[in-house]
Amino acid sequence: MPKLIIDNQEVEVDQGATLVQAAGQLGIDIPTMCCVQDVSPCTSCMVCVVRLVGRENLVPACATIAADGMQIDTCSDEVTAARRTNLELLLSDHVGDCIAPCQMADPNNANIPAIIRCIAAGDSAAATKLLRGDIANIDGAKPQRACRRARKDQPVAVDLLLKFAAAQANGESGGPKDETKRFSVHIGKLSETELERFMTGISPDQQVTPADPGAGYTPEEAAAEAKRCMHCDCRKADNCKLRDYAEAYQAKPAHFRSQRREFVQDLEHPDVIYEPGKCICCGLCVRITEQEGEEFALSFVGRGFGVQVAPSLDKNISQALQKAADRCVQTCPTGALAMRK
Ligand code: SF4
Ligand code: SF4
Repeated sequence: MPKLIIDNQEVEVDQGATLVQAAGQLGIDIPTMCCVQDVSPCTSCMVCVVRLVGRENLVPACATIAADGMQIDTCSDEVTAARRTNLELLLSDHVGDCIAPCQMADPNNANIPAIIRCIAAGDSAAATKLLRGDIANIDGAKPQRACRRARKDQPVAVDLLLKFAAAQANGESGGPKDETKRFSVHIGKLSETELERFMTGISPDQQVTPADPGAGYTPEEAAAEAKRCMHCDCRKADNCKLRDYAEAYQAKPAHFRSQRREFVQDLEHPDVIYEPGKCICCGLCVRITEQEGEEFALSFVGRGFGVQVAPSLDKNISQALQKAADRCVQTCPTGALAMRK
């Protein structure tokens, strides 16, 4: 069995183990995005690079087999800087918002789009649980001013919706105010075409006015107003490896940024949202749809910078993800594939 040194610690591994697995035996966590168990790595993200002493270039730990006598360095400044650069390259082509504009503007940092989805679904108890801060004095004025829908016609009445959720509290309190400032990327100004795309499936009606302004929204009025929300948030903001690693390695999203690509949301699938602008072309979903025997498996289409993941034979994402939707969403390292709910 090969014996090697990783960060000055000796480890003996099974024949055929990768450097990621060898480091794991020592409790050393090497970041990986395009490599998971049971799916062969395609070494596309290069965030797992390490220094193999004696080699000129850094090597991808996910695809390098441990050999007897190797000396590996996983945490020098050189390795950290290379990982940061590789993350910044991935972010240079990333288009999407981690956090919706309304949540960005909320002093309590509540997940306002999720609250609105609960109200639209008639689940006001779940909406109340997502409120943050002093819910007796909840104030949605700032989030409402930041609402993206204002560019189309009128903002979503966030203030009234939050007050509606707070009024359903029945003595329950929301979560504490959250002052954590997490890493976030933002689309910036939307083009007219992008704005129209955001409106797909959204109520085209004007803001709902409560019949009794003093009492606020009834459940029916609140649900109707909630259906005007464009849901600008990323559904995987709290489960995104790209965001987690970008934060950990202090990557700067604008470092290599040029002209951004168009923001596209594919809503053909009943349960899954596909946002190609968040795809890092890791190929995991491509290999999973093959493994699962999807008839119209996902594949890479296009060339060079235009390459993207799409269903084969001009089929749609709903036809491509008939059996493998859950596994693809769970495995996708970014918000490119996410569940709607
Ligand atoms: S449309 Fe909805 S998610 Fe987007 S900013 Fe307005 S309230 Fe927030
Ligand atoms: S959609 Fe997700 S899993 Fe598929 S290639 Fe893109 S980033 Fe990877």
